[in-house]
Formats: sequence, structure tokens, C-alpha cells
Amino acid sequence: MIVFDLSCTAGEHRFEAWFASSDSFADQQARGLIACPICGDSAVRKAVMAPRVGAKSNQAGGAVVAAVPPGEPANAVPAEVVRRVLAEIAAKQAEMLPQSRWVGREFADAARAMHEGRAPENLIHGQASPEEAQALHDDGIAAMPLLVPVVPPDLAN
Ligand SMILES: [Zn+2]
Repeated sequence: MIVFDLSCTAGEHRFEAWFASSDSFADQQARGLIACPICGDSAVRKAVMAPRVGAKSNQAGGAVVAAVPPGEPANAVPAEVVRRVLAEIAAKQAEMLPQSRWVGREFADAARAMHEGRAPENLIHGQASPEEAQALHDDGIAAMPLLVPVVPPDLAN
């Protein structure tokens, strides 16, 4: 994950956004997918680059924008707070994963089977496409994206 200080062109609003990589930022910027949380302007550019935090990832993740309510100063959420919260979530995930079963690409099917009572309830993690994740959500099945990317066991060696 990498955090960029961004600034919109229309209002010169400063805000922070997290990206999987520098390329991910460039791609989303080029496609106009990053919008200023204050005025919605999608003409954003990099302000000052913050140091890289956490593990390097190739996952093409979406932008996680630390939205700041209108009228608040853009630096209302200090980067240190964001980093601390992310570190806490990463620690929780590390605690939970050993009790969780890796199901790989079968994740959506396995989650659905548990939800429908066709399989015993278990903690599982695996891979799901955005469409599969949306379908699970639409059906009221709780699935949570792993904040810290996990290397699939079959790719780990
Ligand atoms: Zn703006």
C-alpha cells in the first residue's frame, strides 16, 4: 500500500488516498476514477509523496480515500492515525488467519454453501472476483476484503 497526498485542480483541496501501487494511482488518475472528496473534481494531481508503508503489493486495489467532511481542514485525519489503524487491522488479521481455512477460488461457493446451511460454519478466506463479492453482498452474505494481501498457499513456494 502506498499513500499519496493529492490535490484537486478546481479547489486546490488537499486529501490523502491509498493505492496498491504507484502504477495503480497513475492508472486510476488517467481514467478519472479519483475524485476530490470535498468538491468531487476528478482532475487530481499528486501533492507531496509520503513514505511507502507496509508490504509491497501487486494487487490492483481500488483507491481507499480518507474522506474529509466538507468544511473540515483536509489534514483532519493525520497520516499517523491512518497508519496506526491499518497496523491494528493487520495485527487482527494475522491473529485470525491461522484459524481460517484457505479455499482459494472456491471462496464464493464455499461462503454461499455455509450461508445456506449446506456446509458447517467455518472461518474461510480465499479469492473472489469483484462480481462474486458483489453477488455475496447482494445476498446478505458477510464477506470482508482482507486489507493486507495474502499470498495464496499454492503460490507461496
Ligand atoms: Zn476539491
